[in-house]
Amino acid sequence: MPDPVVVDPTDAVVRVEAAAVCGSDLWSYRGQSTAKPGSRIGHEAVGTVIATGDEVTDIAVGDWVIVPFRWSDGVCAACARGLTTSCEHGGFWGREITEACQAELLRVPQADGTLVRALPDGSRPDDALVPSMLALADVMGTGYHAALSAGVGPGSTTVVIGDGAVGQCAIIAARLLGAARVVALASTHADRQALARSLGADEVITARGDDAVVAVAALTDGAGADQVLECVGTAQSFSTALAAVRSGGTVSYVGIPHGVQIDLATLFARNVTITGGVAPVRHYLPALLPAVLERRIDPGRVFTDRLGLSEVAEAYRRMDAREALKVLIDTSA
Ligand SMILES: [Zn+2]
Repeated sequence: MPDPVVVDPTDAVVRVEAAAVCGSDLWSYRGQSTAKPGSRIGHEAVGTVIATGDEVTDIAVGDWVIVPFRWSDGVCAACARGLTTSCEHGGFWGREITEACQAELLRVPQADGTLVRALPDGSRPDDALVPSMLALADVMGTGYHAALSAGVGPGSTTVVIGDGAVGQCAIIAARLLGAARVVALASTHADRQALARSLGADEVITARGDDAVVAVAALTDGAGADQVLECVGTAQSFSTALAAVRSGGTVSYVGIPHGVQIDLATLFARNVTITGGVAPVRHYLPALLPAVLERRIDPGRVFTDRLGLSEVAEAYRRMDAREALKVLIDTSA
């Protein structure tokens, strides 16, 4: 592919140090959603700015930056409300432009609104922090969106459905927001259960469907959870979420829903709130970045595997086979 260059005066070009493969990338890998021929893939990256357009005034060449999963101008009405994913001038790599993050070089539109320096002086953080910085590009902000939208706070009993990278980050977020008790609904994958516990889950339930709901009820005196963070997006996980939440509680969803139908009458009778949606991760970066820098959270632990860019096909295979939780693509390897 030709090297990306500055096209619009608000663009920057980033030399990608590390990118990631997302669970949502697997939808097109499996042929369940279509990708435009010639478009590239990947929407999570960190790296160094090597060029900027004439109208880029904040971000400078040499800055080491986090690239959140959509670009946004940071100044329109939607951005002002914190909904950077609805930016009037926003877009998504591999869709509005062919360039995308699983590459050596990346064009970033709306660079001033989109890019965030990892450190105030633009320098590169310690090696140990790089995976967590990469997690801030998507999965950590997405898990945080689930917990924050649902109203998790001190005293909450919170259930997280899903042991993928977003579910694991939702556990971190629930803890960060002060939940009193976090219950993870996970697969039988022992490594994922162990990670969930070490990131802050007090209990891990591996039962599914009605059995999972019974197990949550048993942990909450029959009432159900204050919040359920639905981090999968399937019909089964949604129906578990709605059955496991207490009357008056909140279900938030951040997994892309596939084939989910919701019966509003059920929600009406129990005063259940549904919230969530696509996470405005750019908006959350100023809140989450200090937590990483101060070592209060370590979302980089979701990266179980590290492969070079030339091995990206193997990264997809491992994630598709659920052998890897999430793969970091190291462009220098
Ligand atoms: Zn905007």
